[in-house]
Amino acid sequence: MGSMDLPVRTRVAVVGGGPTGLALAVTLASAGVDFVVVDRLAAGANTSRAAVVHARTLEVLAELGAAEGLIARGVPINTFTVHDGSRRLLRVPFDRLPTPYPFTLMVPQYETEAVLLARLRALGADVHRPYEVDSVVQDPAGVTLTMTTGQTLRAEFVVGADGMDSAVRAASGIGFTGSAYLESFVLADVEMDWAPGPEEVALTFGAAGLTVVAPLPGGHYRVVASVDDAPATPDLRFVQDLLDERAAGRATVTALAWSSRFRVHHRLADHYRAGRLLLAGDAAHVHSPAGGQGMNTGIQDGFALGAALITGDLDRYESERRPVAQRVVRFTDRMTRMATTRNRGVRLARNVALTLLGSIPSFRLKLATELAEINYRSPSDTTSILTGHRPTRGNAPSGPAGASSTRGDVNAEGQRVAAQT
Ligand SMILES: Cc1cc2nc3c(=O)[nH]c(=O)nc-3n(C[C@H](O)[C@H](O)[C@H](O)COP(=O)(O)OP(=O)(O)OC[C@H]3O[C@@H](n4cnc5c(N)ncnc54)[C@H](O)[C@@H]3O)c2cc1C
Repeated sequence: MGSMDLPVRTRVAVVGGGPTGLALAVTLASAGVDFVVVDRLAAGANTSRAAVVHARTLEVLAELGAAEGLIARGVPINTFTVHDGSRRLLRVPFDRLPTPYPFTLMVPQYETEAVLLARLRALGADVHRPYEVDSVVQDPAGVTLTMTTGQTLRAEFVVGADGMDSAVRAASGIGFTGSAYLESFVLADVEMDWAPGPEEVALTFGAAGLTVVAPLPGGHYRVVASVDDAPATPDLRFVQDLLDERAAGRATVTALAWSSRFRVHHRLADHYRAGRLLLAGDAAHVHSPAGGQGMNTGIQDGFALGAALITGDLDRYESERRPVAQRVVRFTDRMTRMATTRNRGVRLARNVALTLLGSIPSFRLKLATELAEINYRSPSDTTSILTGHRPTRGNAPSGPAGASSTRGDVNAEGQRVAAQT
């Protein structure tokens, strides 16, 4: 959509058309709020990256009319298991969760972005590309964004949904407190014979690092592993050797579809708001991929911030969402350190404790609830803020309206629709 003219003025300017910016944009479009989304990339990223969509995110996506479309593209998984080498310590079932979506959905991030973008277009809006924000200046009456092209966009509010190196956060002066993990993370989408099979997400502890294997659509598997020193683009041999070392005899990799290495930080923005500037998603929090919660928390931020912008209760956004990110950063950090400890005594104690706790149903349910993020429902996002708000199309070029809606979804007119069978 590079040919789209950039408006000169809007109510809400969203910098970044990743999953967070898209979730926010769909929320605003559903309620008829005037907004503009800009992204510096000429097209959305087409790499796999975050591959887990948890139950709470599916509840939010259902509010936005995007859950059923995404579920159709993914693989629902009911079980999360924790191992030390080949020994299973813990089995966490998701099917007892009190949610319409008692499972975790495995689906590549580009599919999640594609479904949100299709929903945005069905509501008559789109992402303006490629526009890179070069400067962000706020004054008492508004904010001026200047693009690298020299064009300007004036807005009442600006949202930084522009990822970890957020330009909006930099301009706001908000600190991003935390540090980086020493090890890097390897990600690979592979085809393989995997002994545990495609019914579970398996986290394996090990002194060399943690390893997660999870099924993906099309018979593929996602491998995530913390590694001291990994090549930038791990090849099939590297992934096979890694699994031979950490899951001996259980994996035969036959093809590699995509791989990447990335360094992980655990950081949290000191505030989510500075005057007219607001932060959401990776711009506000980054953490270990153990638990697969990065994109999930970002999509939920986008929805909650949309609700706050619709209702005008902006201060509530930080007070609701920052503690959630704080908890996710702490939880994933604890999980990562516990998984990778090299201290024999600590490992032994950890394994005994997990095996014992794993026999207690309420502990298993608590862990499933934490992973699924359904304990993070908040007053502003349990009741639909979209009902009763009618969208306008003044903020975007025309697009196809009235995409099909399913049970509990909100249709293109911003109204809750009856269940379809
Ligand atoms: C290789 C890799 C693997 C990952 N794996 C996992 C995983 O397994 N599990 C997990 O939970 N998470 C994972 N993540 C993290 C996950 O991808 C992020 O949490 C998620 O993308 C955050 O979404 P976001 O919309 O907040 O930010 P982003 O997806 O980073 O989107 C930000 C957008 O802003 C745009 N932008 C940035 N600066 C500007 C600017 N100045 N002007 C205009 N546009 C701008 C960018 O082009 C981008 O489209 C991974 C990330 C990477 C890179």
